[in-house]
Amino acid sequence: LAKHDNLPLFIYHQGLDESHRRELQLIQDLRPALENGDIFLVYQPKVSLAAGNCQHAEALIRWQHAELGFVPPDEFIRLAEHSGNISMVSRWVVRTALAQAGVWWQRGIRMRVAVNLSIHDLSEPTFMRELADTLREHPEAAQYLSFEVTESMVMSDAEQVIKALQQLRDMGFSLAIDDFGTGHSSLAYLKRLPVDELKIDKAFVQNVNNDAKDAMIVSAAIQLGHAMNMKITAEGVETAEGVTALKQLGCDVVQGYYFSRPIRAADFEQWLEKPIQ
Ligand code: C2E
Ligand code: CA
Ligand code: CA
Ligand code: CA
Repeated sequence: LAKHDNLPLFIYHQGLDESHRRELQLIQDLRPALENGDIFLVYQPKVSLAAGNCQHAEALIRWQHAELGFVPPDEFIRLAEHSGNISMVSRWVVRTALAQAGVWWQRGIRMRVAVNLSIHDLSEPTFMRELADTLREHPEAAQYLSFEVTESMVMSDAEQVIKALQQLRDMGFSLAIDDFGTGHSSLAYLKRLPVDELKIDKAFVQNVNNDAKDAMIVSAAIQLGHAMNMKITAEGVETAEGVTALKQLGCDVVQGYYFSRPIRAADFEQWLEKPIQ
């Protein structure tokens, strides 16, 4: 009986060891994966409702691990943050997205690529300095790239984040607040954010056409953003009905599986060839 009593605890510990081992392996494999192509970027179109075209894409990171298979970005980005590796990842993302945008612009595809930043990037002097260096070498980078920071990042240290965003703005980058509606930002801070775009979180977008309260929230966010001279993007748009509802509410840009999943650069170019429904 005593043995059986210990069983759940034993399983629990074994489970912990297992996930701990996975974490250690992922942290160890991060740098080689960035170098050998196991980590790569995919791109998701952001469709302008007024123009009916796509001039912006969001870059999203992917890891196809040789042994572990697909590792979700939420998992390894968090690990990279906690293990002090996030600026290595972010620098790689910026470099890769910039190179891709450069290729596109050379071919006449004038795509601005949005890169997701981590809170640590904004408080990392080296990261900011390197961006400034990149810009001196490639002044066109300001036109090729934009950055997304989440609303909860802003609220974790508003004064510091506003300062960093202002620096990025001064360098010429356009900026978006991501996951808007989930980060509890106060309106006082929202007013002071030097950003061009609000991205309404998909939690509010997904039922916008059949949930009256979600529609009210989205509508209020659109009016609030417009009053502050921001463009409004809805993320997580999955249906034609959703697009219609968002258009009626005055949304500027839509992004989601309805148009395309995030895809490799070559597939993205093919997607651009087809008319947008
Ligand atoms: P996010 O920045 O809010 O990205 C939006 C997420 O929604 C992406 O998940 C995207 O694939 C997914 N998505 C797009 N359209 C739809 C849709 O219609 N329906 C649904 N259900 N989902 C949709 P993903 O790629 O798994 O990324 C998750 C999060 O990981 C991102 O959330 C972002 O916070 C983080 N992340 C991804 N790439 C990077 C990166 O390069 N750097 C950093 N720091 N974070 C990244
Ligand atoms: Ca994003
Ligand atoms: Ca988001
Ligand atoms: Ca998110």
